[in-house]
Amino acid sequence: NLSERLERSFKILKGEGKITEINVAETLKDVRKALLDADVNYKVAKNFTDTVKEKALGQNVLTAVKPSQLMVKIVHDELTQLMGGETSEINIDSKPAVILMSGLQGSGKTTFSGKLARMLKSKKNKRPLLVACDVYRPAAIEQLRVLAEQIDVPMYSEPDSKNPVVIAQNAIQEAKAKGYDLVIVDTAGRLAVDEEMMNEIAAIKQAINPNEILFVVDSMTGQDAVNTAKEFNERLDFNGVVLTKLDGDTRGGAALSIRSVVDKPIKFVGTGEKLDAIDQFHPSRMADRILGMGDIVSLVERAQEQYDEEEAKRLQKKIAKNQFDFNDFLSQIAQIKKMGNLKELASMIPGVGKAIKDIDIDDNAFKSIEAIIYSMTPEERSNPAILNGSRRQRIAKGSGTNIQEVNRLLKQFDQTRKMMKMVTGNKMGKMMPKLKR
Ligand code: GDP
Ligand code: MG
Repeated sequence: NLSERLERSFKILKGEGKITEINVAETLKDVRKALLDADVNYKVAKNFTDTVKEKALGQNVLTAVKPSQLMVKIVHDELTQLMGGETSEINIDSKPAVILMSGLQGSGKTTFSGKLARMLKSKKNKRPLLVACDVYRPAAIEQLRVLAEQIDVPMYSEPDSKNPVVIAQNAIQEAKAKGYDLVIVDTAGRLAVDEEMMNEIAAIKQAINPNEILFVVDSMTGQDAVNTAKEFNERLDFNGVVLTKLDGDTRGGAALSIRSVVDKPIKFVGTGEKLDAIDQFHPSRMADRILGMGDIVSLVERAQEQYDEEEAKRLQKKIAKNQFDFNDFLSQIAQIKKMGNLKELASMIPGVGKAIKDIDIDDNAFKSIEAIIYSMTPEERSNPAILNGSRRQRIAKGSGTNIQEVNRLLKQFDQTRKMMKMVTGNKMGKMMPKLKR
């Protein structure tokens, strides 16, 4: 799947210090392949990787963020843009507002008509009327009637009529007469685009002048979905797209290409056969889904915002000289806290999120540590070596902790300091020549 493919290609960047022409080219080749395999239109994929490349090159990689993570974010933001950036609302302000469904047979028009009626009834307090304009199969009217009953919404049909244009017009008269403020017109589709179907839906459009024409498409049909969208759009100039069957093992390709090929927003997605399986389309969330990497993107965003690179460099120097003290310790804690609620932050890390859901970590985790450090004099903070027994007693009292907690912190601090020195390579550097000899 696309997410896994992208994930693998990002791994190439792992451990690199900077995003360069060379490492980005390799990754983007894979990204492009992954997009093409997910049925993303060739031109769309090419434009996409070109834009990402342009944005990625020359980006400074912050200490807190790995190049691969930064790439994920750039790709995520581009994916979001590709799908329209913002969420698009439907236009249902007139009374009655008329919504016309279009799309091939089996795309999910009838099901979606029911879902939309249910959603707008409960969430927007609308009084919908469902209209059956599929006059070719008796079963089609019956299908809509059953849906309407389930959600307790009236349905308009004319079982003996073969003229969907007239049915639609009559339905709107009926809605006006009975005070329904939302008319959802379900139409007949064909298995493939043909002139007759196009003429019919165009005639309905002409006759009822809908506020909103939605093009419903099965997201599992991949590249075909994009071609169909193009043909319907040329004929109908529709207002928005509904992507159905996103619940299955659907590759995200259709969602990615449709927007840029027809330049119309995706407004809703269908995620199951049940009537509540409908969602507004959020480009950013869809990008998350395509990348399938938990919420690593927001994690990177926050780290970027909050992490002070200069501060990090200053600290590294102090650590190398073994001058890391309690003042630095405090400022590190402040940095971590700035990044937000720790649990929330940790829950964004893919693979870890679920595991730590019930564990109690939050900002309070640092409370007693901070209290202890604040109870030290400035001299004690910068020179912890002077902390003898009586000083420790005083600090314990002042911080509302006890001597064990103070001792524990001092011991941890000492270990941390030793470890930091090792990691920064100071000690290792001195050892190396000996080893060589
Ligand atoms: P229409 O011919 O365009 O009216 O399509 P229908 O509404 O009759 O749907 C065709 C089939 O797709 C039906 O079996 C629906 O239950 C199914 N279907 C519609 N939307 C979804 C969806 O979002 N997810 C899944 N899994 N099935 C769907
Ligand atoms: Mg139908």
